[in-house]
Amino acid sequence: MPLTSRRLRAALLATASVTLVAATLPAPEPLGIGDRLFPHLGNPGYDVLSYDVSLTYKGSNTKPLDAVTTIDARTTAPLERINLDFARGAVRSVEVNGLNSEFATAGEDLIVDAPSRIPAGAPLRITVRHTSDPSGDQANGGWVRTADGLAMANQADAAHRVFPGNDHPADKAYFTFRVTAPKELTVVAGGLPAGKREHAGAATWTYRTAHPMATELAQVSIGRSAVLHRTGPHGLPLRDVAPTADREKLEPWLSKTPSQLAWMEEQVGPYPFETYGLLVADTETGFELETQTLSLFERSLFTGTGYPEWYVDSVMVHELAHQWFGNSVSPSSWSDLWLNEGHATWYEARYAEEHAQKPLELRMRAAYARSDTWRAAGGPPAHPDVPTPDHKISLFRPVVYDGSALILYALREEIGEAAFDRLERTWVRVHRNGSATTRHFTDLASRIAGRDLTAFFDGWLYAEKTPPMPGHPDWRSETPRDAAGGQSPARAPKPE
Ligand SMILES: [Zn+2]
Repeated sequence: MPLTSRRLRAALLATASVTLVAATLPAPEPLGIGDRLFPHLGNPGYDVLSYDVSLTYKGSNTKPLDAVTTIDARTTAPLERINLDFARGAVRSVEVNGLNSEFATAGEDLIVDAPSRIPAGAPLRITVRHTSDPSGDQANGGWVRTADGLAMANQADAAHRVFPGNDHPADKAYFTFRVTAPKELTVVAGGLPAGKREHAGAATWTYRTAHPMATELAQVSIGRSAVLHRTGPHGLPLRDVAPTADREKLEPWLSKTPSQLAWMEEQVGPYPFETYGLLVADTETGFELETQTLSLFERSLFTGTGYPEWYVDSVMVHELAHQWFGNSVSPSSWSDLWLNEGHATWYEARYAEEHAQKPLELRMRAAYARSDTWRAAGGPPAHPDVPTPDHKISLFRPVVYDGSALILYALREEIGEAAFDRLERTWVRVHRNGSATTRHFTDLASRIAGRDLTAFFDGWLYAEKTPPMPGHPDWRSETPRDAAGGQSPARAPKPE
């Protein structure tokens, strides 16, 4: 049968259904997955399996990059429309399962009309041709401009200000980054290298993750960088990225990673990913960040003179500990952030105790004194107040750092060191490569302790006032009013 009749009819039907679907759909609006702290983050109806993000950097870190993001997913509900999170870029076209599709934006959502109704459980491939603009204000995350290029800081809700996706840690996926940049620059991304192709004065670098990753933990570094290779425990390949001019100066710091990894493995078991290393960026972010397999550090943390060596070491361990707590085991919602920061701060403090004789008990007693104030300022650890709209990283308050490491200290006092260690190891093993909730943690703790810890956790996780510290009835927490008088000591740069 000649093409015309059947194929023409099918084509006509398809366009009819596009216009038909489009015609019957309500006005596009931003959607979310019900995260109390970020109502419009994440989208319903599909589970992303992998991202393939191609970026073309033109040599200036204030010029938009050209980009093609291909998302492979599986629908979890019938869909006539697909919401993605995306902002800070122009969308040129969108294809759904190979068909050009209508799209619109609402808030920070990119809304795509499916060519036809897609049933639940079906494969979904979405290809977005777009730009990715690094020139904007950096306060709300996304691209970070460095002295010689770009890096990423997408935590908590900013990955979609770089590439379109389902921007929530409840939906992790495998990543491939293909980055084209002028040949004098070096590109490193999370995961392992998967090829480099040189062409016409430029090069395209490909990197692939071997484990699922949350969008907020993606890292791509473009710059005049040196890549420093070394080996970790049991042959783990390590690579650091540093400004070429600083490689000698930074080596004494970077060479600490293998022993820090060995120490963390003694605490909680095997390192969960295919590689690790530090990205030392010449930029001032005001924080360090545990991007997956390649943690972001400000150059000044290592080259500045203000920080004692033990403190810098412990910040390095903080970001390393996140690879287990926050990256391999991601929070199912941002109200579970205390699980990330409480654990990273706990191992930071434990490392300082064992390697710099900074007594953990002293730090925890000081945290206890501040705990009521922190709870008053930001809500209880597992029910934090919503972050200020124009400053989302305000979510990262002391109550989820030392205020939450305090909960782990109390738990260890409550159930004993052996049960606590077993809990920590079991937690990262059982939830490896997944996302987990506070309830998962408290249930596991009760199971391992062999008794119901609900009352214990209700107080420590949700109460306005800090419960009494087991074994330390004399510890007191200042009332917020008293605390208002005393200024807290200026903090050194904050490990995120
Ligand atoms: Zn942290």
